[in-house]
Amino acid sequence: MIPTDTLFHQNAYLQDCMARIAHVSDDGLVLERTVFYPRGGGQAGDSGWLTLDDGTRLHIADTRKAAADAPGANTLLHVPAEGQEDLKILFRPGEQVHARIDWERRYRHMRLHTAAHMLCAILPYGVNGCSITAGYARLDFVTDEPLSRDGIDAALARLVEAQLAVSVDTMSDEALRANPELVRTMRVQPPMGTGQVRLVRIENTDLQPCGGTHVLNTREVGLVHVSKIEKKSARARRVVLTLD
Ligand SMILES: [Zn+2]
Repeated sequence: MIPTDTLFHQNAYLQDCMARIAHVSDDGLVLERTVFYPRGGGQAGDSGWLTLDDGTRLHIADTRKAAADAPGANTLLHVPAEGQEDLKILFRPGEQVHARIDWERRYRHMRLHTAAHMLCAILPYGVNGCSITAGYARLDFVTDEPLSRDGIDAALARLVEAQLAVSVDTMSDEALRANPELVRTMRVQPPMGTGQVRLVRIENTDLQPCGGTHVLNTREVGLVHVSKIEKKSARARRVVLTLD
């Protein structure tokens, strides 16, 4: 199966597109191109709607990658919400649909994902868990040090006020090998061996491999604060961020 053309990687602000249905299975619908982000890298999958030319509308509850061992692992599945079996049979391969994401929900994912990278720059510890939904960003840090809620809130506010550019770089494995100092400044070792690594940079603040969707400027994160700090174990602290 051909890989889905991932328009959200070219422009995270695209809310809709026209696309042809490539494949339909019990698991979901595959489009030739899409604005729907599949759950991954901690970020939740998009929900939204697929609409046929005659106005028939299918509600999509989630988006995910086809199983890694399935043919066409870069194929994205648009998973319909329950109870639409009668509708689903009208969506056949070859038909053209208008695909629209739930933008309000996705924009919260983008703001919280960028906030999560800001938090990584503020807390100099390893991260071994991350979950980003429309309601919160949750990160698990490997540390036994006490964390200050007020200190983190103030540091987050400073990064928002600084209006820092958030940009995406794609670098070849070769270019990364030629710039080892770049890898050393990263929080996470980039996944080499695939030829290309996608990096998200917050101006003068953070650089890390990431496949997620982000806002273009930290200003757009807006009001964000720590809603919870939890001691998960002697060596793990969970920090939860929410938007005001
Ligand atoms: Zn990320």
